[in-house]
Amino acid sequence: MSKTIPITSLDDLKSSFTTLPIIPKELKAPVGLLQDAHGRLLHDLRISVTDRCNFRCSYCMPKEIFTKQYNYLGQSELLSFEEIIRLAGIFIGHGVEKIRLTGGEPLLRKGIEDLVSMLSVMKTPSGKPIDLTLTTNGSLLQKKAKALFDAGLSRVTVSLDGINDAVFRQMNDVDFPVQDVLDSIETASLVGFKNIKVNMVVKKGVNEHEILPMVEHFRNSGVILRFIEYMDVGNTNGWQMSEVVPSQSVIDLINEKYPIVPVEQGYSGEVAQKWQFVDGSGEIGVISSVTQAFCSTCTRARISMEGKLFLCLFANTGFDLKQLLRTNVSDLEISNAIANIWQGRQDRYSELRGKIHAGEISHAKVEMSYIGG
Ligand code: SAM
Ligand code: SF4
Ligand code: SF4
Repeated sequence: MSKTIPITSLDDLKSSFTTLPIIPKELKAPVGLLQDAHGRLLHDLRISVTDRCNFRCSYCMPKEIFTKQYNYLGQSELLSFEEIIRLAGIFIGHGVEKIRLTGGEPLLRKGIEDLVSMLSVMKTPSGKPIDLTLTTNGSLLQKKAKALFDAGLSRVTVSLDGINDAVFRQMNDVDFPVQDVLDSIETASLVGFKNIKVNMVVKKGVNEHEILPMVEHFRNSGVILRFIEYMDVGNTNGWQMSEVVPSQSVIDLINEKYPIVPVEQGYSGEVAQKWQFVDGSGEIGVISSVTQAFCSTCTRARISMEGKLFLCLFANTGFDLKQLLRTNVSDLEISNAIANIWQGRQDRYSELRGKIHAGEISHAKVEMSYIGG
């Protein structure tokens, strides 16, 4: 078992993770790309826009903990769209080219399409449009797909943990029917989204028998199916290594029935290893954060819905950018604070997971629904 800080209340845990960023005394305008302590560039930014969700996936927001009484953030505690845009502009100045909106369930955030339209017009200093994507559980996508596409969202990823209705209802734990998510994917495609991705978290003994049916459903559809290893994010999902299905087993299972070959990576920070079907029926991906850690190429920063900057999915410190935004601090000062934080980044949790779980290193973490996937 890992040595984590004992939890008496998740709210205590959240607030214990806050650090006020230091603004360096000598202010300089950002020049060049930012490298962290292991030489990793800042390239991707994930912005979580809400801590709420209408699903209760047991690996993320188990319903015993995320009850009606759970103390979700109030509206005034969330970053406003203007604050998100201000931060996004500063991060883009530091080299960010890809922004993903996440949550909780991002489509629950009121006016999300307005945020998308503000972000989608942003460009890198060299004039390149930002690659703007969003991850959703698909429950509200049918209603929102056209507005999101028209607002300039580049791509969309839908999470779907099974094609069998009973299995899917068990995974989302709120009895949500699979057909509604399938209809959402169809609608997203009809309104114009290309390269739609579907993410499936695989849990041993729970939905692993859905791997081949999912492949069979999405082959030849243009949708890219990706299998994610069940991770020990947060403190509430009771993760055990024995519940992880290694990506290699997923690959072997698929390859036996539908031969696949590896595809070259798009860019070095890409999380999924891609494979394509030999018969030309499409592509799949695997995200192996447990069995094949990819920390050495991790270029992702995360901002929580209340404006804390996290440098790792498994981080134990959030830097409170909202405090800076809501006091009389200039963009240059915030930019320097972010540079200072990124340059000190040492995080590589997945590479150290073994030692942490063996109790050799002590480590506490934030919840996935808080930090976003
Ligand atoms: N609610 C949205 C959704 O489900 O797509 C966005 C937020 S969710 C936290 C982002 C992604 O994280 C989803 O694809 C989800 O399956 C994944 N995820 C959540 N908990 C996980 C875990 N313990 N292990 C692996 N992936 C997880
Ligand atoms: Fe909600 Fe997404 Fe977490 Fe499932 S994975 S509980 S849909 S935030
Ligand atoms: Fe990046 Fe942290 Fe995941 Fe490693 S464990 S890949 S540093 S988010």
